[in-house]
Amino acid sequence: MHSSEQGTVHIVGAGLAGLSAAVRLAGSGRAVALHEAASQAGGRCRSYFDSATEMTIDNGTHLVLSGNRAVLSFAETIGSRSGLAGPDEAEFPFVDLAFGERWTLRFGESRFPWWVFDKERRVPRTAVIDYLPLARLMWSKDDRRVGETIDCRGPIYDRLIEPLLLAALNIAPRDGSTKLAGALVRETLALGGHACRPLLAREGLGRVFVDPALDYLRARNVAMAFGDELIALHLFGGRVVQLEFTERRVDLGEDDTVILAVPPYVAAKLVPDLHGPNEFRGIMNAHFRIEPPDSLPPMLGTINSLAQWIFPMPGRISVTISDAGQLFDLPRAELAERLWRDVAKATGLTTAIPPWQIVRERRATFAATPEQNALRPTAETAWRNLLLAGDWTATGLPATLESAVRSGYRAADLASQKLRAAA
Ligand SMILES: Cc1cc2nc3c(=O)[nH]c(=O)nc-3n(C[C@H](O)[C@H](O)[C@H](O)COP(=O)(O)OP(=O)(O)OC[C@H]3O[C@@H](n4cnc5c(N)ncnc54)[C@H](O)[C@@H]3O)c2cc1C
Repeated sequence: MHSSEQGTVHIVGAGLAGLSAAVRLAGSGRAVALHEAASQAGGRCRSYFDSATEMTIDNGTHLVLSGNRAVLSFAETIGSRSGLAGPDEAEFPFVDLAFGERWTLRFGESRFPWWVFDKERRVPRTAVIDYLPLARLMWSKDDRRVGETIDCRGPIYDRLIEPLLLAALNIAPRDGSTKLAGALVRETLALGGHACRPLLAREGLGRVFVDPALDYLRARNVAMAFGDELIALHLFGGRVVQLEFTERRVDLGEDDTVILAVPPYVAAKLVPDLHGPNEFRGIMNAHFRIEPPDSLPPMLGTINSLAQWIFPMPGRISVTISDAGQLFDLPRAELAERLWRDVAKATGLTTAIPPWQIVRERRATFAATPEQNALRPTAETAWRNLLLAGDWTATGLPATLESAVRSGYRAADLASQKLRAAA
């Protein structure tokens, strides 16, 4: 591979971090090459054909909030913003499957959290003062566990804070990092309903986040190689001098830059002395091939159940369970039966269990504890032409699409700045 006059930016890893870095740099005048070990792009955010349900499904339903500004700008740039759909207002219907109670949190559309002051909108059986723990999360100075910062009991915790933090941090909320929880509250709930509207890629993650990004890159002459696994970074004189892939080696010139956008456990093997998160949490999704009833809202939170969130998707109903590691060793058929019972109870469907698939992602996100959060490295490394990207780098956010895209944009901007500084 030959470098352009301005040098080539080699992006390793085509998950959302790598794709967003490539999209930011494409068309900037600099040559960009994307290298991905798998046969498809998307990483932990991907669609694929599943033979059990005979449908294209996602590895996991991904929820985006309207306050996730980097994800929305990424979708806007690649032309797929309209593929992210949700209710007109920030509404979160819940059902308690043990007691049958149903309620809806309505955050409205304002740019201030007026919902806290409106009895009809806030959590049933709560008063304004009950929302103070949210402020404590936002303003906490040290990074402690959420369980050491706020009282993890009572209706506000059970019905708002726990479901929200479990979904966003992917860890039992009391063990989660106060800093990460605070960042989430600051960027969503505290900004009013305007920033909390739930958005979903109903036509699939591939169609919204991955395929349009690849089309965008192809149209701007970004070189893309799949099945191209980086197995070593050769370092000399304070920089990366060669990339060694399974099938070939690429020598790097003085102006070439590398953005390493791989998961932390891969980066740790490639970069000497790199400290990054090394504990992970799993997410499980179940997909049932059935036409969802019209009465099912765009997403339904369930309490006192194995299921946590139920989503109607075209031709199927999907169920998400965060921090699901303890369930991974149970037989898949048992899990599908139990989850279908929850779906039937929540929706009123009385049919026998339809064709299903259970998708288990063991290392869905790094464990969002204060200790793991403290291990996240910045984008810049000790090597002058090596930058890091990924949801696990120090973005200040939990491991989410928003974190991945912000990290990709940041690495791309640093790559451009370095070039300008060298010129
Ligand atoms: C089941 C599930 C549900 C989720 N739900 C949500 C949600 O609702 N909302 C949300 O915001 N986030 C959610 N997430 C998190 C979100 O998917 C991630 O934060 C995001 O996709 C991470 O992107 P990334 O690019 O940082 O990493 P990855 O997606 O892991 O990308 C890394 C890429 O590097 C490639 N690679 C690895 N090693 C090499 C190598 N040696 N050479 C070349 N390439 C290599 C991998 O194949 C991969 O494509 C969920 C994740 C999972 C798994």
